[in-house]
Amino acid sequence: MSMRRRLVIGNWKMNGNRAENQQLLSDLVNLQKVGGAGADDGTKGADVELAVCAPFPYLPQVADALKGTGITWGAQDASEHAKGAYTGEVSVAMLAEFGCSWALVGHSERRAYHGETSDVVARKAAAVIQGGLTPVVCVGETQAEREAGDTLKIIDEQLAPVLALGADAVKNMVLAYEPVWAIGTGLTASPEQAQEVHAHIRKLLAAAGAPEQRVLYGGSVKAANATSLFAKEDIDGALVGGASLVATDFQGIADA
Ligand code: PEP
Repeated sequence: MSMRRRLVIGNWKMNGNRAENQQLLSDLVNLQKVGGAGADDGTKGADVELAVCAPFPYLPQVADALKGTGITWGAQDASEHAKGAYTGEVSVAMLAEFGCSWALVGHSERRAYHGETSDVVARKAAAVIQGGLTPVVCVGETQAEREAGDTLKIIDEQLAPVLALGADAVKNMVLAYEPVWAIGTGLTASPEQAQEVHAHIRKLLAAAGAPEQRVLYGGSVKAANATSLFAKEDIDGALVGGASLVATDFQGIADA
């Protein structure tokens, strides 16, 4: 078995409000206390790391709720710039002030709706590392790209500028394979489809000098399909959208 510690990250996307978040966070913390992931008593799930990526304005609320619980938190994006005239953007230093451990970069919704290219994604990943946080770099093909047989080519193109940051940088990253056609659609890549891409990403990581970086799978992960996905050699955990909004669903994935 590899030494890669399992990691399950929730991506709340643009959901929640103060009251709903408070409930979700306290439910998560309570589930942890009864021996779920992150429990340090050697019971089930002790080798799983849990994190949530919340909308920017709620990061202080998340920090207050999760401080000292073993669950870490992060943002869903970060600016590539350190400071200045970038209206609407949030810097990595600002995220660090709110205790963030993680920033997602290159989520397919950012790529699709905000025109983020793979070069931008690589610069954001570099900024996140520079600021002392860990980027979760998301890649994945669309349905049309898969049907055209281009999946691995797309992964190569999306990762090229990221891996070109060099081994020292890549050793501070987590990658997430998220087929666009599986995000929020209820369609999940089969464990075999996912493993094929994860093995390819692992080869690229090895060539970049960082073979042991974690590679998460994302795309309609639920407790019911998590076990068979996590059984695959190169799948080290999950990036979870919809199911991260219900504490028992999210904990169910962590328990898997
Ligand atoms: C995501 O947005 O990262 C994601 C995987 O969403 P969902 O789990 O809802 O498919």
